[in-house]
Amino acid sequence: MDRNHERLHRDERDLRSVGMAELQAIYADLGLTRAELDLLSVPRRSFTVSFPVKMSSGKTRMFTGHRVQYSDARGPAKGGIRFHPEMEEEHAAELAFLMALKCAVVNIPFGGAKGGVVVDPLQLTRDELELVTRGYIRAIADHIGPFKDIPAPDVYTDERTMAWILDEYERIKREHVPAVVTGKPPDLGGITARRYSTALGGAQVLEEAMKERGMEARGTRVAIQGFGNVGENVARILHHWGFTIVAVSDVNGAILDPRGLDIPALRQHKGRTGGVAGFPGASSITNEQLLTAECDVLIPAALSYQLDENNAGAVQAKIVLELANAPTTAGGDEILFKRDIPVIPDILANAGGVVVSYFEWSQNLDGDAWPEEKVLRKLKHTMIHAFNDVRGHCREIRCRMRTAAYQLAVKRILNAERLRGNL
Ligand code: NAD
Repeated sequence: MDRNHERLHRDERDLRSVGMAELQAIYADLGLTRAELDLLSVPRRSFTVSFPVKMSSGKTRMFTGHRVQYSDARGPAKGGIRFHPEMEEEHAAELAFLMALKCAVVNIPFGGAKGGVVVDPLQLTRDELELVTRGYIRAIADHIGPFKDIPAPDVYTDERTMAWILDEYERIKREHVPAVVTGKPPDLGGITARRYSTALGGAQVLEEAMKERGMEARGTRVAIQGFGNVGENVARILHHWGFTIVAVSDVNGAILDPRGLDIPALRQHKGRTGGVAGFPGASSITNEQLLTAECDVLIPAALSYQLDENNAGAVQAKIVLELANAPTTAGGDEILFKRDIPVIPDILANAGGVVVSYFEWSQNLDGDAWPEEKVLRKLKHTMIHAFNDVRGHCREIRCRMRTAAYQLAVKRILNAERLRGNL
């Protein structure tokens, strides 16, 4: 399987059912009423569209797309658009709900959505991808908008896709509507920092968690699984802040240097060779060894279900920062909790991306362009606030951070429904 196919299949598997098992336990703990459970258990709107695309062969092919707006009690629905051969409405609904929860944890005024087109993007030409994107947007244009539902990039869609979405939507509406979509190229109203905001938001909550344990950047050793968008950026940021990055990995292997890896040189090495393996001066280890390597902070930033009952007992880190989606299984989580190793849960740790999407929407509505300094300052404020909310709730009910984050999110969504008179 080549790199692109590996990513396509990994992403799909990774995001499936993330966090849904956790929710059943949360509902039980919160003692929700029948009406509250009913309200949370179905999406508000969910639709499937079919649309024709004239392919480069000259033949017309029909495509299917979905969009689920799970919740909009706290604000317009917000969530990614993905291109994937196994895109299913039911799966989109789960992910849409998780988006609603993520937005609620960081307290930004959005609900949750998800959608996409059933297609293998690797089988299409660039022009065909553009036509598919435009066809999908024409089919759902009446249902999206800056105050209805705001799409964003997801698996196999990117800034270029968002530019096509913006352009198609504006052609239909015959006016400029930059806030209809986020994750746009900066020249079309996007925010440059969006490209590394997931990693930065994670680094910001990590610093906050470290303060509680009396830890500081200097002398703190970090191991990172994954050296893609999120892993490479978090390595770059933490290295810049004075942390010692002792181990990193990618799909082809892991490397370790207890004295600390030279991250700028490693990024150049990756640029030349395509990966981290063979970096001069570092020893080669397995991905399994990376997870249990001697370090203070462990950052899974690649795949789901990496820390489980087989290896969580051997984790040496004092803090785990979940930048990947669902990198810890329920069994692994239990062991880490018993060992008093705090896990900063994915729903909070990797929310920096959607927070900066909110800033993009906000600056677009104001016809403004925020300076980067303002974006970074407000991201930090939002992430630290969210972290403190979760920690506060944690102390109140004496639970792990993951439980507190989910409880807080569910309570906020239900409260919005109550205030609207829906409960
Ligand atoms: P990416 O494709 O850019 O990078 C993934 C990295 O993981 C690559 O370096 C890849 O080689 C590595 N990898 C793959 N298989 C591996 C294995 N078996 N062992 C070790 N490393 C392996 O993806 P990304 O955007 O960095 O996303 C990483 C994770 O973070 C995913 O779970 C994603 O869903 C989650 N996430 C990303 C964002 C975002 O803004 N990009 C936001 C929220 C959550």
